[in-house]
Amino acid sequence: MIPYGRQDITQADIDAVVGVLQSDFLTQGPMVPRFEQSVARHVGAEHALAVNSATSALHIACLALGLGPGDLLWTSPITFVASANCGLYCGAQIDFVDIDPRTYNLCPQALERKLEQAEREGRLPKVVVPVHLCGQPCDMQAVHALAQRFGFKVIEDASHAIGGKYQGDFIGNCRYSDITVFSFHPVKIITTAEGGMALTNNVELANKMALLRSHGITRDPTLMTHESDGPWYYQQVDLGFNYRMTELQAALGVSQMERLDEYVARRHQLARRYDELLAELPITRPWQHPDSYSGLHLYVIRLQLSRVQKTHRQVFEMLREQGVGVNLHYIPVHTQPFYQRMGFKAGDFPYAETYYSEAISLPMFQRMTYEQQDQVVAALYKVLSA
Ligand SMILES: *Cc1c(COP(=O)(O)O)cnc(C)c1O
Repeated sequence: MIPYGRQDITQADIDAVVGVLQSDFLTQGPMVPRFEQSVARHVGAEHALAVNSATSALHIACLALGLGPGDLLWTSPITFVASANCGLYCGAQIDFVDIDPRTYNLCPQALERKLEQAEREGRLPKVVVPVHLCGQPCDMQAVHALAQRFGFKVIEDASHAIGGKYQGDFIGNCRYSDITVFSFHPVKIITTAEGGMALTNNVELANKMALLRSHGITRDPTLMTHESDGPWYYQQVDLGFNYRMTELQAALGVSQMERLDEYVARRHQLARRYDELLAELPITRPWQHPDSYSGLHLYVIRLQLSRVQKTHRQVFEMLREQGVGVNLHYIPVHTQPFYQRMGFKAGDFPYAETYYSEAISLPMFQRMTYEQQDQVVAALYKVLSA
């Protein structure tokens, strides 16, 4: 089966991890700060906090922004559940903003309309989480303008988007947001096995997240409520978690960062090739915003079902039968049973639901060969023309 995503591990990656295993520190050593600096410098953010997953990064980002009971977090229904769950961890309520049918990202016009209504009802969100689906950045300038006007905070869920650009600058520079989050799960663009990172240009948010990722404990005398008792002393000043990244993961991350730009360039080559090879089929290929350079984590096609003699499910199953590991990103979060119990129902976000009924993620990963890609294309022709 040709997988929809797969990590690339080189000998240099292996040597980097083995080097850590033979060193003094398996955790809380020099590698995590080195990885943080490497990413922060690359994307142009001032502060970076590496953690054990993007889910953890989203959680401490919400807490650092003061999200709590009685507050609202809004995000896109077409995302992984973690983009919404992070608000629930903090005791906040969740709501969704429907997608733009062309980019599949949270729609800024729908966001504006929903904010105007929420203002009239006194139910404005405290945090909005735009998700850069497939690696294509949201219209962050528009989201930022709305954040200024309505007074909410912005966390970019850039789990798909490291190495991509918006208006010529790397995603993660937080120009239009308070915090940006990356994921390093093996299917994503670079990997640390499990891992994530929160980036910000705000030192207070960075300090707060640094505390929260490690029990709320500090050894920094300037953060303590009174003078240190002695050299052994640390103070717990907040309720935090153990969300730390290990040195092994950080070493892998540092090594992978060396190839980030090459990876994204390769994904663009593959995407251009898919664009050409699939042009005749009854599908909608991904639309790319001219102002952006996508990280291209995913290549999603939509079936034009009125022109196809099969159901979405049949096409999906037949592709899998032919060894093409297609996937679907994502099941609209508001249709998950856990969210339906909060009152969401099918029909609430029609563009998201239509997208779900037509979308298929094709295999896309940096080491994918043209031969593998040709196999995917041939399978699609076979299934869609028969
Ligand atoms: C993968 C992903 C996450 C969660 O990342 P983890 O590192 O696995 O916790 C969150 N949001 C989106 C959009 C993702 O794709």
